[in-house]
Amino acid sequence: MNLSTQQALQHCTVCPRNCGADRISGKVGFCGAGTLPKVALVSAHQWEEPPISGTRGSGTVFFSHCNLRCVFCQNHDISQENFGAEISIERLTEIFLEQQSRGLHNINLVSASHFIPQIAEALENAKAQGLSIPVVYNSNGYESLDGLRMLDGLVDVYLPDFKYWDDTLAVQYSKVPHYAETAAAAILEMRRQTKADIFDENGIMEKGLILRHLVLPGHYKDSFRVLDWIRENLGKDAYVSLLNQYTPMYHATEFRNLSRRLTTFEYDKVTEYFLEIGLTNGFVQKRSAATSEYTPLFDLSGVKSAATFQIRKEN
Ligand code: SF4
Repeated sequence: MNLSTQQALQHCTVCPRNCGADRISGKVGFCGAGTLPKVALVSAHQWEEPPISGTRGSGTVFFSHCNLRCVFCQNHDISQENFGAEISIERLTEIFLEQQSRGLHNINLVSASHFIPQIAEALENAKAQGLSIPVVYNSNGYESLDGLRMLDGLVDVYLPDFKYWDDTLAVQYSKVPHYAETAAAAILEMRRQTKADIFDENGIMEKGLILRHLVLPGHYKDSFRVLDWIRENLGKDAYVSLLNQYTPMYHATEFRNLSRRLTTFEYDKVTEYFLEIGLTNGFVQKRSAATSEYTPLFDLSGVKSAATFQIRKEN
């Protein structure tokens, strides 16, 4: 672990929670993450947006822990119950290079904000060793500007959520204060870093920004406000993925609105509003996406090196 990674973790303000925890000394903050990166699954993901998954799949690396507490989290096994294995920064570097050698379109860092310093170090090492495919940063939107600046020049494509406009919903459903203003500032920083949206000849995004918004049952008018912000601040050509996949999972059934799936009426209202305010680049999902079948099975595949498995077998 290099000096700048250690320094960032000694008084952790890597994400907007600003806990100040000394993770190097074994203390943990809100996210519960330690010093080493913790990973639950390394896979080839086929179900991201077409410019991300393409035909060969996206090289996802799913990180454990999270700085939000979404009551409907479909990945709660790893985000809230923290399943995963701690690995060294050297192993994370190897994983990035292995994903490239599998012929996948990109490296896709899923929920990584609490491991930004370690990831930045691993990306620098991997790039020095030949990593050349785009790096996608797949985020819940709750990012600090200091954290994002550590990724400047290392990440090619940002894929942030913009989950809520109304902070009451953000606090109630994700236990996060000031979500909208924090996500808005983070997204503008992501736009500053990536500048323009660039695709290769096969339509795979090489550089740019795609915003994701999960439409929640009972709250489609909150989606309107999120789209208004996008239109006003990123322009009509911003790429927006409107997710229809909401499924009541985890603690969602404790909340009246979240206990059911989204209706076609609600989703159509949001897609119609998207067009009405002049946005032009949207991705939509079929209703059949609203099933837990699309939740990955977190089984540590690809996390440990072949050598480690060999040692385990011999034991
Ligand atoms: S990354 Fe974790 S420890 Fe650091 S500020 Fe965020 S929640 Fe706190």
